[in-house]
Amino acid sequence: MDRVISPTEAIIGGKKIITIGTHNYLGLSFDPDCINAVVEAVKRDGTGTCGSRVANGSFAEHLELERELADFHGMRHCMVFTTGYQANLGVISTLVGKGDFLLIDADSHASIYDACKQTDASVIRFKHNDVGSLSDRLRRLKDESGNKLVVVEGIYSMLGDIAPLKEMLEVTKHYGAYMIVDEAHSMGVLGPRGCGLAEDLGVLDQVDFVIGTFSKTLGAVGGYCISNHDDFDALRVTCRPYMFSASLPSATISGVRAALRAVTEQPELRQKLTENFHTLYETLQANDLFLGPTPSPIVAVRLKNSEMAIAAWRTLLHRGYYVNIGLPPATPNNEALLRCAVSAAHSSEQMQSLAGEIVEVVREVERLGHEELAAVN
Ligand code: PMP
Repeated sequence: MDRVISPTEAIIGGKKIITIGTHNYLGLSFDPDCINAVVEAVKRDGTGTCGSRVANGSFAEHLELERELADFHGMRHCMVFTTGYQANLGVISTLVGKGDFLLIDADSHASIYDACKQTDASVIRFKHNDVGSLSDRLRRLKDESGNKLVVVEGIYSMLGDIAPLKEMLEVTKHYGAYMIVDEAHSMGVLGPRGCGLAEDLGVLDQVDFVIGTFSKTLGAVGGYCISNHDDFDALRVTCRPYMFSASLPSATISGVRAALRAVTEQPELRQKLTENFHTLYETLQANDLFLGPTPSPIVAVRLKNSEMAIAAWRTLLHRGYYVNIGLPPATPNNEALLRCAVSAAHSSEQMQSLAGEIVEVVREVERLGHEELAAVN
């Protein structure tokens, strides 16, 4: 991107391009209230904190945001991290240790996999979104005395599919295990208040830890963990990615606070987002494209191989649309994907025209032979 000019447009290679791959789900990165909050705070507090939360890097803004995020979720505690990656890495690797068990979905985000490498707990994978597979693994552990922690995501980032959270929570609680839900892609998207999948399903009070990011719906950078557990604050002095990294600039925090107000006060943004992703998903489906299993803001078009995906991605960019591309080994089952990330800031017309372009381009690349594809790429 040479320059980003709005939540849905950028200059790329000197040309104005519509961006449908930025995870800017409510379009808040250019919200005037968020921008003003950032500008005011940078003038007041300077450009950075120059220190970690446990040293000199806790400002009033950090504490206010933690209170607001905890209240937003109806829970008591919140820790803000410098990135969502650090929130997963830090919380997961600190909560479980030697003699404990960490059970993760096979399609987990890299930050969850990396947390597994940082802990002495035994790591067990269960089949993606498979309640039976989770239940089998927990049953086999039922006589083990160590703590068991299950980690799932609300909406999965590659195929945009949604966890069967209610059922997963049932088996998790049945076996006395704890549950973390990473709502990175579902905060601001699902739920009556926009808290995510757990709220949407009415089970938020049963979730032990909610993880989230500021880099998607909230249009900034940073991460958080929310919990009701009494000893939660002990993490502040045991969680290394929290303790040994500088805290977020106060300006970022102020912008996120304004974005959180927008999530609460403008539910119409969530409605528009929902309308947009349904339009895109259903139009592509009606044209027989092979998609992720459920409509969500991540609409993944599954192609037969990487060559086709790269050719389709390049052709869409030439035609004025930037979507994401997902290629092996970063994708489940090594699939090749065009990943659209829909925003409330897109117009209905943009959804229709993008859908039309994707259908044309996918049909075009499917007709091309190996050498013709190589020429496009
Ligand atoms: N969890 C999931 C599911 C994600 O998709 C991401 C970002 N892609 C993260 C965590 C990390 O968030 P951040 O970008 O804030 O580091």
